[in-house]
Amino acid sequence: MNVNQSAPPLPPFGQSQPVYPGYHQSSYGGQPGSTAPTTPSGAYNGPVPGYQQTPPPGVSRAPPSSEAPPASTAQAPCGQAAYGQFGQGDVQNGPSSTVQMQRFPGSQPFGSVPLAPVVSQPTVLQPYGPPPTSAQVTTQLAGMQISGAVAPALPPVGLGYGPPTSLASASGSFPNSGLYGSYPQGQAPPLSQAQGHLGAQPPQRSAPPQASSFTSPASGGPRMPSMTGPILSGQGFGGPSLSQPNHVSSPPPQALPPGTQMTGPPGPPPPMHSSQQPGYQLQQNGSFGPGRGPQPNYGSPYPGAPTFGSQPGPPQPLPPKRLDPDAIPSPQLNELPPQQKTRHRIDPDAIPSPIQVIEDDRNNRGSEPFVTGARGQVPPLVTTNFLVKDQGNASPRYIRCTSYNIPCTSDMAKQAQVPLAAVIKPLARLPPEEASPYVVDHGESGPLRCNRCKAYMCPFMQFVEGGRRFQCCFCSCINDVPPQYFQHLDHTGKRVDAYDRPELSLGSYEFLATVDYCKNNKFPSPPAFIFMIDVSYNAIRSGLVRLLCEELKSLIDFLPREGGAEESAIRVGFVTYNKVLHFYNVKSSLAQPQMMVVSDVADMFVPLLDGFLVNVSESRAVITSLLDQIPEMFADTRETETVFAPVIQAGMEALKAAECAGKLFLFHTSLPIAEAPGKLKNRDDRKLINTDKEKTLFQPQTGAYQTLAKECVAQGCCVDLFLFPNQYVDVATLSVVPQLTGGSVYKYACFQVENDQERFLSDLRRDVQKVVGFDAVMRVRTSTGIRAVDFFGAFYMSNTTDVELAGLDGDKTVTVEFKHDDRLNEESGALLQCALLYTSCAGQRRLRIHNLALNCCTQLADLYRNCETDTLINYMAKFAYRGVLNSPVKTVRDTLITQCAQILACYRKNCASPSSAGQLILPECMKLLPVYLNCVLKSDVLQPGAEVTTDDRAYVRQLVTSMDVAETNVFFYPRLLPLTKSPIESATEPPAVRASEERLSNGDIYLLENGLNLFLWVGASVQQGVVQSLFSVSSFSQITSGLSVLPVLDNPLSKKVRGLIDSLRAQRSRYMKLIVVKQEDKLEMLFKHFLVEDKSLSGGASYVDFLCHMHKEIRQLLS
Ligand SMILES: [Zn+2]
Repeated sequence: MNVNQSAPPLPPFGQSQPVYPGYHQSSYGGQPGSTAPTTPSGAYNGPVPGYQQTPPPGVSRAPPSSEAPPASTAQAPCGQAAYGQFGQGDVQNGPSSTVQMQRFPGSQPFGSVPLAPVVSQPTVLQPYGPPPTSAQVTTQLAGMQISGAVAPALPPVGLGYGPPTSLASASGSFPNSGLYGSYPQGQAPPLSQAQGHLGAQPPQRSAPPQASSFTSPASGGPRMPSMTGPILSGQGFGGPSLSQPNHVSSPPPQALPPGTQMTGPPGPPPPMHSSQQPGYQLQQNGSFGPGRGPQPNYGSPYPGAPTFGSQPGPPQPLPPKRLDPDAIPSPQLNELPPQQKTRHRIDPDAIPSPIQVIEDDRNNRGSEPFVTGARGQVPPLVTTNFLVKDQGNASPRYIRCTSYNIPCTSDMAKQAQVPLAAVIKPLARLPPEEASPYVVDHGESGPLRCNRCKAYMCPFMQFVEGGRRFQCCFCSCINDVPPQYFQHLDHTGKRVDAYDRPELSLGSYEFLATVDYCKNNKFPSPPAFIFMIDVSYNAIRSGLVRLLCEELKSLIDFLPREGGAEESAIRVGFVTYNKVLHFYNVKSSLAQPQMMVVSDVADMFVPLLDGFLVNVSESRAVITSLLDQIPEMFADTRETETVFAPVIQAGMEALKAAECAGKLFLFHTSLPIAEAPGKLKNRDDRKLINTDKEKTLFQPQTGAYQTLAKECVAQGCCVDLFLFPNQYVDVATLSVVPQLTGGSVYKYACFQVENDQERFLSDLRRDVQKVVGFDAVMRVRTSTGIRAVDFFGAFYMSNTTDVELAGLDGDKTVTVEFKHDDRLNEESGALLQCALLYTSCAGQRRLRIHNLALNCCTQLADLYRNCETDTLINYMAKFAYRGVLNSPVKTVRDTLITQCAQILACYRKNCASPSSAGQLILPECMKLLPVYLNCVLKSDVLQPGAEVTTDDRAYVRQLVTSMDVAETNVFFYPRLLPLTKSPIESATEPPAVRASEERLSNGDIYLLENGLNLFLWVGASVQQGVVQSLFSVSSFSQITSGLSVLPVLDNPLSKKVRGLIDSLRAQRSRYMKLIVVKQEDKLEMLFKHFLVEDKSLSGGASYVDFLCHMHKEIRQLLS
């Protein structure tokens, strides 16, 4: 391969591109026939030249280990230089500054960025991070108050708790809501020893920062008299709970130097007190970390008491009612009188509010475009609508980081414990206002790269010697510029054509790949889609097969296309199966489709080549005929058993025979118990919950699926799985192949056409139409000093650096963690380059490149000022969810809590000025870390309620693995929107309220969504007129609980609410089925599960309680 050949002259990219117009989302919810979906043109990048040196697919590979690659990249694939070998500080890294700069908020120097590609905006000094005012939230937990809360975000005092709404729960059983279909949980089958874990290492972080002598005025901590007794349990002590005045200190003077904490007036002087408070035990044996002693009052006997990290051991005793999955959890808390419910004396309005932070960011950053010219800028939050202008760094839609200013040394990084990670969504869809990446064609020589580290030409490369050579910004190697690529430099040393070339001026762009980047040195054929339909008894009886076949007749007209292509290049094929497989010949010359049965599932082969994969328009008549006949052919089936692995095997073999990549769409209903490879047993055993063996529930039952997945990846065969279970199907095992091939899993428990067809069809349409990059490989390169060490997502890795994706769509993210392997340098900063090699929907091989420059710091305060909590939570959730494969869930929770406490303690110790230990001081950028972390800790994977099935947990676990930052944000902290508070005319979404029962007014109606679930909650005292307008019934009592469709009524309120529901659905990658919940109805328990600031019935702590606990952990670390 010759990478240094000349490239043909390139037209200014202003004109060169629009071969691939922006991603226009087709309308999904609508009728398939109505709009022709435009396919987002693929922007995937192709293989890195270095990749060709990896063994060709199909050749012997290491066992799948996608989940936890070895931490060392020492064995870089041949030809790839290990990063560590280059000294740092070379060329483009300026001398490391020894000057301790006096730092002021907003003044971090990025003026001196020698590599910044964009000269046009050198003076844009965007303040990093949140507004420099209010550097931190100071909260004083003293005398049962939180004082401080200096952040402008915090609303005035006094509102406190609304009148405690008593939502006594009715008893009864959950109807099958579609949320968590509850199955009969009868037998506890023998437990099969799971093999082949995904290699995840147990969560293990390095030592906590040293707790130095932190002089605290009140050594023992302020007295918390009313915390005697169960602040956590909500029982047992008298005293007026609401009478305590809340105290919020006034804001401190602005413009303090960073690092100065903004402590408000400390509130009433905390009485000196030793750590002997009964019941709260601030200093001793904080029982929450691993290996610590039990703590009085925490592992309390109250069934609803939060358990934080420590679970009270094996199967948590549940109230008898809760053993029945159909029963409503015991409503202990709700039976208490109101005064006892609201026990905590901390004003919820005085602790950091997610709603306020989101609103502030929208107000402060939503109006201006985010211009990516400067290094290390913290982008607006994912919840803010903003436009991006690419001026040399990748858009935050493609890459978000936990911090945009990373510590110069590993010692600093270890001290802070802030994970350094990037959440990368290489093929992210863009809004119509933003251009898709330009495609650059460097001709036969292929993309220009560094000879040593193989990094691609990018805006940070530095041209020297009059333009005849360039120095690599990643490894410092000096490379010759090929004659055809030569250009003169201007007086600043910049190439005069820099702005005509995307690769010299933009953060994201694509290269056309040459044949060197293709498998077997052959340009790929267009991919194929194979639809594989379970036709066993359950699939037929539920109406699924008929519904699906009817839909496919029109859906195949909307396969992804590129650019202005008339029709999709993708070919299609059809298979049905139960215990045997049926292949269909749908060749255009046939009058009728022909079926071929393969009953030897142990040795799967494809019985026909010609006529199996066909072009839709050529074979339309035969395909339509087939789809008409399938439901009839199997209408009377009695076959209940299915196979699973042989189905995937067959699809993969078919792609192999056709020498193309592609995607399998599997529609499957039951545990595959028929005799065949990949046969499974029912091994669900809820008794394992909270035991050391709980991890086996998440591990695959057999290694067969990993072996199969590995073959699929080698073939570029991506598997999307649609599950329609009526009982346990072992999602943990069935999702192995989708997970390792970059595919998606959808689950519709107890599927019934009348209830679930809208959700299923919407998901299916979107899934089939979305643009996919096939046969992809992703590599993340970094500048000297850091390197990628760990990866999270739906993919496969056969070595430590290459992320292999049989398919990658615009919804999937790959999270990459970085570690230091050398010292970084403030002058030069740190660079990331993500290169994705892929085959587009039209069969074109391409490389998509994303570049991002980060700042480096020698002061911890700079790290804390440039963090993004939403991204941190995304990373921490993925880390924890992988951890449950190998460690007890309790250990995983403990690890999260400990890490979070260490992060905050390090800030307190190093960045905040000394203050009373009774004050909880949070960095401004991380003031939501506790509330969000608590949501992760009490999520279904880490702390399941009684109604959550093993399959639900496995399902959520694998969903989160690929989520982007916006998705994890709303998934862990749902949005709760009051519907009748704002004027009906208002076109904008109503402002959200905090996810707590205390925020619900029984005279109002609310929507709650988390990206997967959507509830409409109706208060019992809602005005009759509102009820009439929305439901077309005359009273609250006549509203049907569990309703999933609102009547279409011609009045402003009805239109507004239905419009809002549509808009929420359009924002999410999966269709959210609506569930109408009436106050005090039995379904309300389901809804309350999502009020994440409250104590949960499964034992999860309330936000206030968790904050107190976190404070205690921090103090422990500091003492
Ligand atoms: Zn290099």
